[in-house]
Amino acid sequence: MENPQFGIRDPRRLIRPLVRRLRPYVPGEQPKIKGLIKLNTNENPYPPSPRVLAAVRAAIDGRLRLYPNPTAQLLREKLARLHCCRPENIVVGNGSDELLAMAVRAFVEPRAGQESRQPRAGRTPAFRPSKSLVQFFTPSYSLYPVLAEIHGAAINAAPLGADFSIPSLASLREARQWDFRAALTFVTTPNAPSGRGYSTAQLEELCCAQKGVVVLDEAYVDFARENALALALNYPHVLVARTFSKGYSLCSQRVGYLVGHPGLIGALQKIRDSYNVNGLGQVAALATLDDLPRYRANFRKIIATRERLGRELEALGFQVFPSQTNFILVRPPGFSARNWLQKLRDRKILVRWFSDPHVRGYLRITVGTPDEAAALVKAAKEFL
Ligand SMILES: *Cc1c(COP(=O)(O)O)cnc(C)c1O
Repeated sequence: MENPQFGIRDPRRLIRPLVRRLRPYVPGEQPKIKGLIKLNTNENPYPPSPRVLAAVRAAIDGRLRLYPNPTAQLLREKLARLHCCRPENIVVGNGSDELLAMAVRAFVEPRAGQESRQPRAGRTPAFRPSKSLVQFFTPSYSLYPVLAEIHGAAINAAPLGADFSIPSLASLREARQWDFRAALTFVTTPNAPSGRGYSTAQLEELCCAQKGVVVLDEAYVDFARENALALALNYPHVLVARTFSKGYSLCSQRVGYLVGHPGLIGALQKIRDSYNVNGLGQVAALATLDDLPRYRANFRKIIATRERLGRELEALGFQVFPSQTNFILVRPPGFSARNWLQKLRDRKILVRWFSDPHVRGYLRITVGTPDEAAALVKAAKEFL
């Protein structure tokens, strides 16, 4: 009911202009359609291990009334043993998405009015990073610009090569499209939505050239040949983001973590919500780490399906980009990508299409089970 005393007809005028203008992140759909083959959000096609499900079930009792451990202490200890570092090197988040947002809040100064951006007369510090800048390559994870906008940060999106390669340092310098002093640089590695992997050597070269914080977003690293964890442990300004979502079939539980120098990790611990990782999520992640060989077998299965699916689609005339993730990016033949999206959807096969001009000609297809991949290939054959 409207309260005439306040005369608030349209409450939207109470919203900060920045938020009113905001174009939110658009996640892939989660429709409830019976028999749907869901290849649109890079979820793992295999369920969590029986030990994980049993551990979660066993934790559902009267203890749900209690707050969880605020720092996910046991999980951080177990992750530290896995990665040969200390718990102080790790912060756990409500999915890695939360940690990416926290990194923006901790390391990037919101843009102020023009006046306050001028250095005060007579004060020119030797080191002045582009303190309000969030930087990333494009195309990559479309959440980064949204996080930057929410924070009131500046954005620098620099194009990847036509084959989704990271440009060399020389060409980044030459193109003047890259800021080596950006407060925060996100690198999706392996890249999404292309699936392309990057060598640790090239990432190290890039990290060495950056003066601000670099977050290497390794959401898909379990399906890749290399990982860059060593960079987070060797360079104080580099953080690696990992998640239990994609590799470990725990999207629903929302558990991710960052690895890095205790100095940066400590700052993130300070700004974290007190109980940011729910109790069942902590239980599920801990049990997952007790069953890693089983998950590694899953990775191998998904990689094998990925390679086979790529070959079969190629034989049908699709252009298939090499992938080191659990999805493939393809340019479909015959009709437009958007058309393919609809035709597949009519067959209850859901894939992802992005309207972004860099990738609007492509489809991103999550690697499902061999049966799901076979259904996709069969449908594609019939359309052509
Ligand atoms: C899925 C994804 C994430 C986020 O994963 P969470 O479920 O929030 O842990 C982060 N980065 C990239 C590139 C992703 O694809």
